Amino acid sequence: MTITVTNKVTTEAITTIGEEDARSTAAAIARAKDAFASTSWPRDTRLRQEVLRQWGDALAAHRDELVDLLLSETGKIRPECVKEVDFAIDALRFNSGMPRLVAGSAHTLSDGSAGHLVREPVGVAAFIVPWNWPLFLLFRDLAPALAAGVTAVVKPSPFTPLTIMRALELAPADLPADVVQVVNGGAEVGETLSAHDDVAAVAFTGSTSVGRAVGIAAAGRFAKAMLELGGKGASLLMPDADLDAAIPAIMANAFITAGQMCMANTRVLVHRSRYSDVRDALAERVGALSVGDPDEPGTDVGAIISATQRDRIDGYLQIARSEGSLLVGGDRLERGGGAFLAPALISADRIDDRLRQEEIFGPVVTVEPFDTEDQAVALANDTEYGLAAAVWTQDVTAAWRTARRLDFGTVWINRYNRTFAEVPSGGMKSSGAGRTRGFEGVNEFTELKHINFGIDD
Ligand code: NAD
Repeated sequence: MTITVTNKVTTEAITTIGEEDARSTAAAIARAKDAFASTSWPRDTRLRQEVLRQWGDALAAHRDELVDLLLSETGKIRPECVKEVDFAIDALRFNSGMPRLVAGSAHTLSDGSAGHLVREPVGVAAFIVPWNWPLFLLFRDLAPALAAGVTAVVKPSPFTPLTIMRALELAPADLPADVVQVVNGGAEVGETLSAHDDVAAVAFTGSTSVGRAVGIAAAGRFAKAMLELGGKGASLLMPDADLDAAIPAIMANAFITAGQMCMANTRVLVHRSRYSDVRDALAERVGALSVGDPDEPGTDVGAIISATQRDRIDGYLQIARSEGSLLVGGDRLERGGGAFLAPALISADRIDDRLRQEEIFGPVVTVEPFDTEDQAVALANDTEYGLAAAVWTQDVTAAWRTARRLDFGTVWINRYNRTFAEVPSGGMKSSGAGRTRGFEGVNEFTELKHINFGIDD
């Protein structure tokens, strides 16, 4: 069986690749298990350091090629593709320092014995990746996992496997055979990876519904599951918010990847005293966004991943049209054969709960007023998702107090969507489980073992 990968602007085929099935996926897992048992990879921290460092350099040397590939298979604008490749390089370079820092602890215990806690790599880990930021989301998880010493089986999204495949080809020669393998396919391959007894950890990034199934399959055999799922990002604009900073940041992060981003700033909650100013400023800017060829300088918003996804988004826009809350945008646009939508702003005193609470995953933003800080927090938290939010205020105390009350894995103050290889991130509630990046991101791929030395005193 094969997968035809298309250019998301023209819908023309870029290439056709082979597709795995349950049997060939199980064979890849068996090879990864052998590599874990028979190579020095899980124990050789200097080898892992060198491989990660060289791999980062190799991606940097092929940066333009990777950007071109990413642009054609995702339909994202070029500056986002450049940023994505740079994030992947940074993940490898940052984590190249981690293998030698994986650490447990030592304790003198109550009976005089020595307790050593050591961290050991879990074994084989699977990486199941979505299509929106494929290269970054893979290396965000894979680089710390390799630092921990796992062997890996990677499943890209069938919509966007090419940049990942090329980046894996660029692995340095010192990476032992079968330590990192790729299996292409869709649900069947993903289900095999999630349910296989020899996969000790599954790092899944994708939708909440599929993530739930992956988490349940992993829990059934007590494997670890790191689940990075959907989001409904919010900016809270307090009465003293600096609008000159907030509005450009919202615009930059609401329509990124045509809004198809888990962390996208999809909701804007504004104190009533500033509501009409913010709504009007956003409406003007949203209406002026340029949609089309992602490779054209000046294009703000590129393609939607597929016609099916555009129809799904349009379903939400129909709700807004019928309730009269669609302020601007939302039209289907004809641009080169792919799926394009005019970015939309939805605004009302009270917006339909489906628009306020569900992940639309498209270029659609809601703006709503609030009267009190309590109300702002309640509105922000009134969704099953808990990935990312921002508070905009000049009042340090209000910023801290509000940030503490928001049920989100990341809360920014006076900025939006800044991510760092050194700081763990992840979701609360239906946005996921586990944390990626930082020491926590490495430790997720280890088991903690207690070795107790009986000291006879
Ligand atoms: P998806 O859940 O449809 O697919 C994700 C991956 O899972 C793909 O590789 C897919 O082939 C695979 N898959 C599909 N069915 C499967 C199954 N039954 N078992 C195992 N794997 C299966 O998600 P998508 O449409 O590719 O991506 C969009 C979603 O990803 C959005 O919900 C978005 O919020 C989320 N996302 C989250 C983060 C984060 O860090 N939290 C980042 C990016 C995207």
